[in-house]
Formats: sequence, C-alpha cells, structure tokens
Amino acid sequence: PPPQENPFENRRRIPKVKKAIAVASGKGGVGKSTVAVNLAAALKSKGYNVGYLDADMYGPSGPTMLGAKDKQVIGKQTPTGDVLVAPESHGIKVMSIGFLLPSEDTPVIWRGPVLFKALNQFLFEIDWGDEELDFLIIDLPPGTGDVQITLGQTAELDGAVIVTTPQDVALIDVKKGIQMFKEVEIPVLGIVENMSYFVCPDNNKIYEIFGKSKTEEIAKQYGTKLLGKIPIEPKVAEFSDLGVPIVLAKPDSNSAKAFMQIADNL
Ligand code: ADP
Repeated sequence: PPPQENPFENRRRIPKVKKAIAVASGKGGVGKSTVAVNLAAALKSKGYNVGYLDADMYGPSGPTMLGAKDKQVIGKQTPTGDVLVAPESHGIKVMSIGFLLPSEDTPVIWRGPVLFKALNQFLFEIDWGDEELDFLIIDLPPGTGDVQITLGQTAELDGAVIVTTPQDVALIDVKKGIQMFKEVEIPVLGIVENMSYFVCPDNNKIYEIFGKSKTEEIAKQYGTKLLGKIPIEPKVAEFSDLGVPIVLAKPDSNSAKAFMQIADNL
C-alpha cells in the first residue's frame, strides 16, 4: 500500500517560544478571552516572559482586555523576511488581527487561502522581542473551525486549555473540541470552568448559580481533567473593559487567585 500521508509532517515550532498554549471553547461567550488574558497576566506576574496572540479572527477582544487596543504595530525587515513587531502592554507582548483592521466594526471575511496566509504570518512572522518567550498564549475563535484545524496542521503547540461554564460543559461542543485537539495531536491540558460560582460579598456565602458543577466528572469522562474554577465577579468584566486583567487589577480577588493557581499547572 502507498505510504500514508502525514498531515503533521510540515508542522513547525513557533520561533523563539518555549511553550505555546492555545485557549479554546466550544462556543462564544463563556469567557475564553477573559481566561486567556488573565492566564497570560498570571504567568507574567509569576515572572515569566509572556506573549498573547489573539487568533480570534471573528471577534478579536483580547487587545481591549489587555489595554492594547490602540497600540501601533510596526513592520521590520530582517535578513529572512519582514516581521511585525508585537507591542507590549502590562509587560505582555500582544499581537492581534484586531491591530491590522482599519476599524473595530470592519467585518472580517476570511476565506481558505487568505486565512491560511494570515495565520501563517501570525504564527511565524511575529517579532516577540529579543528574549525568548516562556509562554505564548493563543486565543482561538470558539468552536472547531478552519482556524483550529489550520493551526494544528501548521504549528507544533504544547497544549490546549478548554474554557467552559458549568451549564455548557455537558454540551457536545466541549467534547467535539477535545476530540479535535486529539485529532490534530495537541495535548489537552484540561478544562477551566468559568463563571462557576458567586461569592456573596455580604456574607461570603458561595452560590452555585448555574447548579452543582459536574465538570470534574465530565472532564474525566472525556479523558482530561479540571484545571480550576473561576467565580463570577462583576469586577472581572469591569476591569476587562478598562483594559486591565483582574489578575493585575485586584490580585486579592477570588478570581485572580484562581487564575494564579491554574497558571501554576501550565
Ligand atoms: P468569549 O471569549 O468566550 O466570547 P469573553 O471572555 O469575551 O468570552 O467574556 C464574555 C463576557 O463575560 C465579557 O463581558 C467578560 O467580561 C464577562 N466575563 C467573563 N468571565 C467572567 C467572570 N468570571 N466574571 C464576570 N464576568 C465575566
């Protein structure tokens, strides 16, 4: 029989990045970008050199959450080709498709070849600075589409974190996401359960607003594990809108502590 084609044989490591970790979700609105920027911030405050790559071509919100929305991206010529220099915010190197769009309302229409070219540039032609990155956090679009598949076939990533909420974890989307990472041979590091519970500020009582969490059991069923739970805190959203991740704005908050703990396991 003819030798089987290996779709991963052309995979390359992202230059000058020690550990590249994708943050994914089965669907939108579960807090994927919030988790991605806060994990980047948590790793940064632990002393690592960190980059954040917003590959959510369809709704790039990371730069806003990192206070990097209005940063300028400059091009640089190198002997091996042109690169884009990632600007820095809160000490984190940031790159986003959002930087390259004329305005926030511009709809992004990506077709196969355009997407492939843009992603390739995004993965391999970014100048992350003179020092090697300890971590590159890659914020993926929700679901299991072309970006994820292309990424898996182009770059050799070190792991993926799946973000869900307690009421969504049982949904088929989460399982499909885990399955997809297996198919593209990216190790799933585990599930982050966001909006897990609410701590009442008056009496510190914990309310599981969306019911009792089953994420730990379901993670096991899917062959992975629960990395941690992030509470609902109005300040998470408030500070996101202000461009400061909660981990940096309120390190004593319950959510910031939870993010710091999860970052220890990446
Ligand atoms: P996604 O990337 O999955 O679409 P976002 O990270 O943009 O989701 O989050 C959706 C909204 O929910 C944002 O307004 C964000 O600030 C808010 N949010 C996310 N996580 C939390 C949380 N733990 N507590 C409070 N608000 C949150």
